[in-house]
Amino acid sequence: MKFNTMLLHGASVKQYPYNATIPPISQVTAFRFDSAEEQEKVFAHKASGYAYTRVGNPTVAAFEQRINELEGGNAAIACSSGMSAITLAMLNMLSSGDEVIAGSGLYGGTIDLFRDLENFGIQVRYVRHVSPAEIEPLISDRTKLIYSEVIGNPGLDVLDIRAVSDLAHAREIPLMVDATTATPYLVRPLKLGADIVVHSSSKYINGGGNSVSGVIVDGASFRWDFERYRALRDFSRYGPLAYTIRLRTDTWENMGSCLSPFNAFMNITGLETLGLRMDRICSNAEKIAAALSELPGITVNYPLLPENPYRELALRQFEGRGGGILTFRAGSREKAFRILNHLQYIVKASNIGDIRTLAIHPASTLYRNSDEERRVAAGVYEDTIRISTGIEDAEDLIEDLTDAIEAADNPD
Ligand SMILES: *Cc1c(COP(=O)(O)O)cnc(C)c1O
Repeated sequence: MKFNTMLLHGASVKQYPYNATIPPISQVTAFRFDSAEEQEKVFAHKASGYAYTRVGNPTVAAFEQRINELEGGNAAIACSSGMSAITLAMLNMLSSGDEVIAGSGLYGGTIDLFRDLENFGIQVRYVRHVSPAEIEPLISDRTKLIYSEVIGNPGLDVLDIRAVSDLAHAREIPLMVDATTATPYLVRPLKLGADIVVHSSSKYINGGGNSVSGVIVDGASFRWDFERYRALRDFSRYGPLAYTIRLRTDTWENMGSCLSPFNAFMNITGLETLGLRMDRICSNAEKIAAALSELPGITVNYPLLPENPYRELALRQFEGRGGGILTFRAGSREKAFRILNHLQYIVKASNIGDIRTLAIHPASTLYRNSDEERRVAAGVYEDTIRISTGIEDAEDLIEDLTDAIEAADNPD
């Protein structure tokens, strides 16, 4: 089965109750039991069944199974947001004193979160780009995780998943990737050696811009050394499943950032068109990047542009696609603001992966908490505009942007 067919006819679709073509919304808090014995078993995770929606819900489970199938994982666990997915994915395996090596071109919220983790004794060491050559010198006994986005948002650096996972595994460290911007349409990171995948499913997976959510997928491929990974020690009897089982029955359950059944339903219906949307979104991004590159005074960043250092890798790893985000430098902050204010169709909003094309000035919004060094390392300058392409007609989007750039050049 190829990707678009799997979106509609994958094995997880056959699990929906009542032979429904999309699952019903189980908008409920608690589930009734006929006997105290049965309830005891479900609470002890000794029998399958639902008891309370924070701990499990049929609609949320349907969403998790869909994502797990698409990513080729062992288990997927849905969370209330992408940020909660990243937080729980890390806290599930890290302890105070541990170090993480991460790329500096990360999503601004993730960089803010990593600063918060310092209070818990977890230190993140940044490299400009997550590559074997850059991470190797930073690896020590304390290094417990390599973390990277597959396509950095908004830095747009592309991770060589195979090369980095090979090095990480040689040093007995797992690789966790945030695949929000790539989606399983561009690449399935677990197949290339990543161990854990996180998504903000608020973005492309939902697609309609109508629900905040996140998801963690564990490939159960990593051989945990329970002497080194103290956080998983109580689950050592589960071997490679220790991460999933601790997450499900402990970290995620206790920290309480479950996904609402209604949002899970919105994600399931959105997901069915992921392939079609990504096709159009990627082609729009490529066309806009090419058109803007022709304009004087505008510098464009998009992985597939001829001069881009990640072009060959992106072509190979994403089978010719470059994703739906591009950034460009307008020349000055004032000009960037004038361009944004002149846009007619393109919406000024802080989101990506919507069916609508969105634009934002990252330095004054998403990166307002980062100092200049961190901003520049993430590819965010005072004059940078980020565009997340939607499914409109490319000609209209190009005209909207070129008109706005022209008007910004000639303010009256
Ligand atoms: C949006 C985003 C997040 C955070 O997700 P939320 O659903 O907004 O919490 C994390 N990583 C990336 C790459 C994102 O784009």
